[in-house]
Amino acid sequence: MHVEPPVGSPRSLEEAYGLLASAPHRPLAGGTDMLVQLTGELGPAPERVLDLWRLDELRGIRVEGGALEVGALTTHAQIRRSEACAAHAPTLVAAVATIGAAQIQNRGTIGGNVMNASPAGDTLPVLLALDAVLVAGGPRGERSIPAVGFWPAYRSTALAPDELLLRVRIPIVDGRRQAFRKVGTRRAQAISKVVLAAAWRRDPAWRDVRIAFGSVAATPIRATAAEAALEGAPPTAASIDRAVAALLAELRPIDDVRSTAAYRLEVSGRILRRLLEDAS
Ligand SMILES: Cc1cc2nc3c(=O)[nH]c(=O)nc-3n(C[C@H](O)[C@H](O)[C@H](O)COP(=O)(O)OP(=O)(O)OC[C@H]3O[C@@H](n4cnc5c(N)ncnc54)[C@H](O)[C@@H]3O)c2cc1C
Repeated sequence: MHVEPPVGSPRSLEEAYGLLASAPHRPLAGGTDMLVQLTGELGPAPERVLDLWRLDELRGIRVEGGALEVGALTTHAQIRRSEACAAHAPTLVAAVATIGAAQIQNRGTIGGNVMNASPAGDTLPVLLALDAVLVAGGPRGERSIPAVGFWPAYRSTALAPDELLLRVRIPIVDGRRQAFRKVGTRRAQAISKVVLAAAWRRDPAWRDVRIAFGSVAATPIRATAAEAALEGAPPTAASIDRAVAALLAELRPIDDVRSTAAYRLEVSGRILRRLLEDAS
């Protein structure tokens, strides 16, 4: 028999930290991932739930100290409508616009996407490509964790069980260009088969290249060999060839219900090639 777990609904972060310190709780944001986990059929059901929805401190988008800050409880729909996100993180706007459809975007949050830690989570490669920092808080105070290293293993994060994700910080970099590509079965309500986010500068050589993929490994990853093949190189067909070859040598995708490893590898190379050609 399925039994509803007790739910705590704090009105302040201090109260939330107190509840987390008193006993293990599973945080609940928009619930679009959590509700399908409540029955326990997809893994252990939570013993207690911590409903974050009243914590307005975790909502909102602002530019502060040279970075774009997005509160963990900010919904995908709010990010889609944000002028600051459009100006400084257009790839984030592009990514959230592909998440589920309107119902999921109205309720699902960036914090939930990050903390669900799915290798297919669409915002995760964007946060890797934009050198984002994830700010966590808990009974021991706040700390900042770079996106690289935030998802150490399949469906796990760098946060301790008594910590919450508070906000995402994306540094604002002059002259940085960005692009996002998602390959799924449909244009909406499609979990990614391959997702790619990239960021770079040009002077006119490729500089500060970041290439991140989702859905091709147990965690979202940076394609560091492809990045190195481009760094400092002129934007020519030869440098693109070298980057794609490096990518195909470094990716080890998996077979699963959504796609085969061979398809993912082929598509990853093609979407990177087209993205770089468009950017040249
Ligand atoms: C029909 C459907 C379609 C979907 N399509 C997509 C898609 O195309 N792309 C995609 O990436 N995802 C998709 N999803 C997954 C989901 O909607 C997103 O991951 C969403 O962003 C989750 O946010 P949420 O607020 O609903 O998270 P919740 O379900 O509330 O939480 C998700 C996880 O994060 C934890 N958590 C949430 N907030 C915090 C916090 N602040 N601190 C600590 N832990 C926290 C929760 O404990 C839980 O483990 C889909 C889901 C459904 C049901």
